[in-house]
Amino acid sequence: MLNDIRKPENNISFSSFLSADYARDYITQDTPYDEQIGMAAKAIREADHVLIGVGAGMSAAAGAEYGGKFFEENFAEFQRVYGKGQYMQDMYSAGFYPFPDEESRWGLWSHLALIAGADLDVTPLHRLLIEAIADKRSFILSTNADHQFEKAGYPEEQIFATQGSYRRIQCKRGCHPKTYDSVELFRRMELERKDGRIPGALVPRCPVCGGEMTMNLRVDDCFVQDDDWYAAEERFSRFLSRALGCRLVLLELGVGFNTPTIIRFPFEKLCREHENVSLIRLNRSKAIVPASLGSRAIGISADMAKSITDICNALDQTGRSES
Ligand SMILES: [Zn+2]
Repeated sequence: MLNDIRKPENNISFSSFLSADYARDYITQDTPYDEQIGMAAKAIREADHVLIGVGAGMSAAAGAEYGGKFFEENFAEFQRVYGKGQYMQDMYSAGFYPFPDEESRWGLWSHLALIAGADLDVTPLHRLLIEAIADKRSFILSTNADHQFEKAGYPEEQIFATQGSYRRIQCKRGCHPKTYDSVELFRRMELERKDGRIPGALVPRCPVCGGEMTMNLRVDDCFVQDDDWYAAEERFSRFLSRALGCRLVLLELGVGFNTPTIIRFPFEKLCREHENVSLIRLNRSKAIVPASLGSRAIGISADMAKSITDICNALDQTGRSES
């Protein structure tokens, strides 16, 4: 009777998917660019399932800006208050400024969260990709907190954003497993901020322990994974378990070496362990791939806006010539 209780053939959870095991045989492929684009389009065309891994490079390729002139223009108030120094150079560094109080910390963070999250719209490239793979079963695993694929119209229930959200806040100590959508609060802070500070009455407090709140971004062990996070994790595991029984393409977009254990190394491992899996790695400069994966890995080091567009065009043309 034991035979009646059959487990799915590939039952993979998010934690067993994760990997810290890096390849020892990385190469930069010398295949000509056009040939690589053709190979990538062919791999996607022949696949039933596409798992898209998304890192910061995708938002940057789509046009999101974080430093330079963009920062000077959008954070002039904070540069005036705190000086330019080592922190007020770009959005990433600014978040680490040792703010003197909560009013100042939320003054900066509410502004940053709106610019990098709710108000960011760099979706044309995202939309192009979504349309190009519309006839595939697909899922997105993302370390980005900026919601750009959702904004581009991709179904929210097919996205697992593991590292949090620029829309949500949590207890700083992570005392209870809930997060709170705070876009409206950020907008009030934005309106009432003066010289970098918000009024004390707008400073959020933890509804459970009364302590400080913080952004729901994974920066330390206090990161809160709420019910929605676990539900997305479950859907990801179900998608992957099913996809591993079919022809699966892993399409990796702009994933660097900041948190390689979430997408980059696990994708290599899946490809290594399953012959029906292939990997397309797009990265402006770091598209090295393990040599041992042979032709099942395609690493394209190029401007990603161009390589995504070229792959989508190649898919589109094939679709037309076949019909
Ligand atoms: Zn708390």
